Amino acid sequence: MDSAIYALIVNAVVAGLFAVTFGIIRLSYPEQRYASWFAVTYLFGGLMPISELGVRSTPFTIPFMILSYGSFLLSLAMLLIGLASMAGRRRPWRAFTLLVVGGTLVRTAIWNGPNNQLLHELLFQSPYIAGSAMAAAIAVGAVRKRRDPLWLALGITLALLTLYFALKPFFAAAFGSGSDPIAHSTSSYALLSQSVGGVLVVAVGLVTLLLVVQAAMGQSIAESETDPLTGIANRRGFNRQARVMIAEARARGFPVAAILFDLDHFKQVNDRYGHATGDAVLRAFAGVLVDRLPRSAVIARLGGEEFVGLLDRTTLRGAWLSAQSVRATLPAIATHLPAVTVSGGLAVLLPDDDIDSLLERADRAVYAAKRAGRDRILPMPDPVQAEPLSLVRNR
Ligand code: GH3
Ligand code: MG
Ligand code: MG
Repeated sequence: MDSAIYALIVNAVVAGLFAVTFGIIRLSYPEQRYASWFAVTYLFGGLMPISELGVRSTPFTIPFMILSYGSFLLSLAMLLIGLASMAGRRRPWRAFTLLVVGGTLVRTAIWNGPNNQLLHELLFQSPYIAGSAMAAAIAVGAVRKRRDPLWLALGITLALLTLYFALKPFFAAAFGSGSDPIAHSTSSYALLSQSVGGVLVVAVGLVTLLLVVQAAMGQSIAESETDPLTGIANRRGFNRQARVMIAEARARGFPVAAILFDLDHFKQVNDRYGHATGDAVLRAFAGVLVDRLPRSAVIARLGGEEFVGLLDRTTLRGAWLSAQSVRATLPAIATHLPAVTVSGGLAVLLPDDDIDSLLERADRAVYAAKRAGRDRILPMPDPVQAEPLSLVRNR
């Protein structure tokens, strides 16, 4: 066996491995639906080297030539669909059709054309050049939007693939690519083309794989940090986001305030109206928090009927106003749900605080609000002066 055959077999096996890997990812992470497109991309991509083997070693030269060209064209077209889906764009079906139909027409038009002539070779490669250039454009668009180095790596790899397709005709014209299909498949041009092309296609596959895995991991983390009932962060999500906010506040020297909310007599809501209605109230309350607290606030359900908002660039007074706004909006949910009230406790971040000590102070304030008759926010900020931090600590 000569080395071109080895290269073909290796390429077919590698493409098959990628197809299986993307298939497994699709099954393990059902949300990553676009992984199926990459599985079929590599499945069809792998048909190309297999049909090249067919051209070489069977009498069915023409069917295998058609299969070789067509499968790689379809593979590229499906890569476009997969990449656009992964980038969160609309699926480019027009580009898909244009590539498949245009490529077929071009290939038919130059069917018995003169090999090794620059124009013929350029036309032969033109659908591949167009397809990989469109794929590179999708990746570059995603880099602009997401600033993700993996998308950048994919964009560069696809640009190299485009360059490779564009340079091939010049190599063929200069050094010859074999005058007929059999001679072509045994030429050193074919060996070079199969190996360089193979490496680039593997690189595209690896970076794409990393992007899919990164998205799957991101989704798992997001799920583990989300409260399934209300859709806002849970305690784990709160802790991570709060750590980031507090570190930034310390670095830049802006104030941070926490508001701890605890719904009043919530057990009675469950007892009177049932657990499902209780759940609906919890969801509605989370909605009120998202509506009324600043956009930059970290909002979470810490458990049961206890919620928290962590507000950056906010003093005790600002936190009090935000918390009052939540409390004042609460009767609005009583149009379709049982009326509830809420007690809130405030605490501002002190130099030696961590998240636990901050929330502990806010919790003590909630307890004070409950004892003072519920449906209120404590401590009240000083109505005249700006609040000195030492006062906050003493309340
Ligand atoms: P207080 O005004 O003193 O806070 O009284 P409370 O009844 O709200 O406080 P308590 O801690 O005694 O009861 C909290 C209730 O919250 C008990 C529990 O049934 C209810 N609860 C906790 N988690 C959920 C939940 O996920 N769904 C529903 N529907 N109820 C929940
Ligand atoms: Mg409670
Ligand atoms: Mg309660």
